[in-house]
Amino acid sequence: MSVSGLEKKLRTHIEGEVFSSQKQLQAYCQDESIFSIEPQYVVSPKHTQDVISLVALSQEYKTPITARGGGTGVAGQSIGSGLIVDFSTHMNSLLDLSTNFAWVQPGVILEELNRKLHLQGLFFAPDPGSKKRCSIGGMVSTNASGPHHLFYGNTRDNILDLEWIGHDQKMVSLNQEKKTLAGLQALMDRNLATTSSIPDVAKNSSGYYIQNIFSQDAKLSDVICGSEGTLGLISSIQCRLSPLPKHRSFAAFSFSSVEEAIEKVEELKSTKASAIELIDLWILEALKSKDERMIEEMGLAHAKASLWVEWEEELSSLHLPSKVFSTGNADMISSIWNFRSQSSKIIHALAKERHPLRCIEDACLPLAKLPEYIKEVEELLRTFDCEGPMFGHVGDGHLHINPQIDVGQNQLSQHVQKLMEEFYRIVLSYGGSISGEHGDGMLRAPYVRKQWASQLDQFAVVKNFFDPFCQFNPGKIITEGNDFPLKAYT
Ligand SMILES: Cc1cc2nc3c(=O)[nH]c(=O)nc-3n(C[C@H](O)[C@H](O)[C@H](O)COP(=O)(O)OP(=O)(O)OC[C@H]3O[C@@H](n4cnc5c(N)ncnc54)[C@H](O)[C@@H]3O)c2cc1C
Repeated sequence: MSVSGLEKKLRTHIEGEVFSSQKQLQAYCQDESIFSIEPQYVVSPKHTQDVISLVALSQEYKTPITARGGGTGVAGQSIGSGLIVDFSTHMNSLLDLSTNFAWVQPGVILEELNRKLHLQGLFFAPDPGSKKRCSIGGMVSTNASGPHHLFYGNTRDNILDLEWIGHDQKMVSLNQEKKTLAGLQALMDRNLATTSSIPDVAKNSSGYYIQNIFSQDAKLSDVICGSEGTLGLISSIQCRLSPLPKHRSFAAFSFSSVEEAIEKVEELKSTKASAIELIDLWILEALKSKDERMIEEMGLAHAKASLWVEWEEELSSLHLPSKVFSTGNADMISSIWNFRSQSSKIIHALAKERHPLRCIEDACLPLAKLPEYIKEVEELLRTFDCEGPMFGHVGDGHLHINPQIDVGQNQLSQHVQKLMEEFYRIVLSYGGSISGEHGDGMLRAPYVRKQWASQLDQFAVVKNFFDPFCQFNPGKIITEGNDFPLKAYT
């Protein structure tokens, strides 16, 4: 087979590895989404100079470039038809450590970073359930968060600066780039960027973050955070570090229904809890199948729903009359959250002809709207014959839904798209965000048009400003089409 001009140049200009065999490409066709796309080449850059060369070659050969960290994204963000740049192989080091910040390369895995930071009594606070596999670059690009968002915020809140390679093939420290910020501001409409149609929810990872672009402390890193590799490539990240908590306390509460659990959330929020997670019956059963004794120990053997709650206070200072379990042992609390973070994996492993497809999995609602919203979504799942788990970060009004869909049915793709259409209509009717933490990717790009209708022009300004050659991760967040490359399930 003849070697293309691009491949020849990749092999001579890049010090890291270049992969082009069918078998190697197969490993990068999928992430944790419902999609599959085969790339032309996969490259593992060794250093920043490799990344700069890749941006130049992508332009020269008009071949799109898609960054990839751990490949755990669930909206099809890290797959693409051109060049995949895998940051996880070589660009995964802790570069510099101070008492309150660290510079890291984008491919470093969250859990590995925190293992090192713990030795200094520190940690990087955003805590996605995928912490064993997700990279800091991926977290920045999706604005990831997790159960402790209530206390520590999202990734954007925990980033100080980014080193960045844009279309001009220069590496810059983004927040020092006052001229670039001014250039972007000059193209934007102050009224549209900062006001209309921003959902009033606790968490949002949809669209470009432009609402602070005209504020006194506007930072370009805030815009890049959550931009899913569509504006350029991140070569290092300055993370804000937090001291490990002095005290930790945990309690579990048992309920006879999800509705009853939801009623308790406001009261628990007022106790300054650092995490409030909803565990529904599906997840309880899944966890039971993994470790029945643990669920019994937690007093949840007969629960139909549960809230798992943490505080950064001593257990003795808390008054928790209706709890079924509590502990102040930090190791035990970490094991409980590790156990909780396995739920998605267990649910997927239990799948037979019905699969928990991640297509309506990440909406975030105003907390007060949850009861009505849940009723309507349960009805929708019954109508589409795909009831499934509804669980997660309820303290933020943010629930993950995994509809159990018969993947053997005719016209699976149409069925899923119809379900999505109805679901996102419901989310928007309650003033919700279509994505609380996972991002839009190609999965939700068609609904970005609905969520952000009045800001779409401003999003296009941002995209064109950073990516005039349309080379960075096309078809994600912003799309003209309705691509739906569903992977084969049978
Ligand atoms: C079981 C499971 C549990 C999860 N739990 C959570 C959760 O609790 N909270 C949460 O927020 N998410 C969660 N996720 C989703 C996912 O883990 C997060 O979105 C995570 O941040 C993705 O990180 P990654 O390294 O895998 O990124 P990837 O999937 O590899 O990429 C994600 C995006 O980042 C971009 N990107 C990566 N590196 C760079 C770079 N150097 N420069 C520019 N762009 C880059 C990619 O192009 C892509 O758009 C979960 C996923 C799974 C499978």
